[in-house]
Amino acid sequence: MKRAKHAKPSRLWPRLRRAASLLTAAACLLLACSAVPRTAAAASVSDLQKQLEQIQSSMAQHRQELADAKKRESAAAALEQDLREQVSVIQSQIAVLKGEIAQVQNAIGEKQQQITAKQAEIVQKEQDIDQQWADFKTFMGAMQELREGGSVAMLSAVTDLYQLLTFNEMMQDISVKETEMLDSLEAAKLELENDYKQLSAEKASLETQKASLDAKNYQMQAKQSELTASITQARMTQEEAEAAQAAAQEAIESDEMDYEAVQGQIQAIISSAASQQSELSFTGFICPLRTYSRISSEYGYRTNPVTGVYKLHGGTDFAAPGGTPIYAAASGYVSVAGWSTGGYGNYVVIYHGTMSDGKAYSTLYGHMSRIAAKQGTYVNQGDIIGYVGSTGNSTGNHLHLEVWQGKTNAGRVNPRDYVPI
Ligand SMILES: [Zn+2]
Repeated sequence: MKRAKHAKPSRLWPRLRRAASLLTAAACLLLACSAVPRTAAAASVSDLQKQLEQIQSSMAQHRQELADAKKRESAAAALEQDLREQVSVIQSQIAVLKGEIAQVQNAIGEKQQQITAKQAEIVQKEQDIDQQWADFKTFMGAMQELREGGSVAMLSAVTDLYQLLTFNEMMQDISVKETEMLDSLEAAKLELENDYKQLSAEKASLETQKASLDAKNYQMQAKQSELTASITQARMTQEEAEAAQAAAQEAIESDEMDYEAVQGQIQAIISSAASQQSELSFTGFICPLRTYSRISSEYGYRTNPVTGVYKLHGGTDFAAPGGTPIYAAASGYVSVAGWSTGGYGNYVVIYHGTMSDGKAYSTLYGHMSRIAAKQGTYVNQGDIIGYVGSTGNSTGNHLHLEVWQGKTNAGRVNPRDYVPI
């Protein structure tokens, strides 16, 4: 992005730029010599600050993208969970249904066996009837023969009239019994046929039942595959959201690196300007807060309430309502005004130059809700540089104030020894 601005410089450009930077350096020197050096290297620092703002807005956008992707992922995960529950319900319903179908299938099989057996019985009964009918016909034929041609022979065979009459009666009895037998066979056959009809009707009803269960099963299978497709969709959404998160995270990290780099450039400019401010001096500090509720933590070794690490608490904490104005404890250069990746949140560092004790000092103001000072500018003692907040590693609204001997936090000293609290 920064490089794209000067994508294809002409051959003249490097020389022009070198000349420009020499001019800037000269301007710095001139400003350093002037009595009120409020705008040292202002042009290039303000350019860099614009870059910082751009990076911050890009970071905010990437954080938004990250948050959106996280929301999408958790929504899709919840949906997947819900769909999986629905699938398991449907699967158990399908299992029950399959059991019912198997039962009906069995019943149909049994019914079919009964029908087959009944058919065999009917066939047997028909054969019996046919046989009986054949026997009867043979018997009747024999009787006919006896009456027509064989009467003489018969008459000669019987010894008396009584015997003849008895014989005749017997013949008639046989005929009646044959007829009765045939009738009962017919009746039995009819009964079998009724049974057969009954079984067939029962089987047809079972088949209807099975068809309806099959249809239900088919519907459930369709629903299940629909749900499975939705689960796949939800998984894809989650994967897409995970990729989007990774991309956003990567972009945020790259933004942070850009931010640090630009911050470093600003730092270099400011410290080179400040190093030329040998005459920068001040007499002492004022309290950076006009009002605060209490000192919530002193300078010294302690277990950090946020990180849980036992180490030096390098400043004094002033508990105060969010938005309480913070004033510069002494005049000087704003060497840092921005976001700390190290836990200070929004923070400001002011380099004050040499105090009456002959030593140089800086002050740091952490966890601001909002910064009101511009990096690279000169502030007077008592100027508003920001407002109390709880950004970074903080558990509540407070000002974390550090006093440094020199320009780095290696020189941290107890603020109570310097600032009227
Ligand atoms: Zn603190």
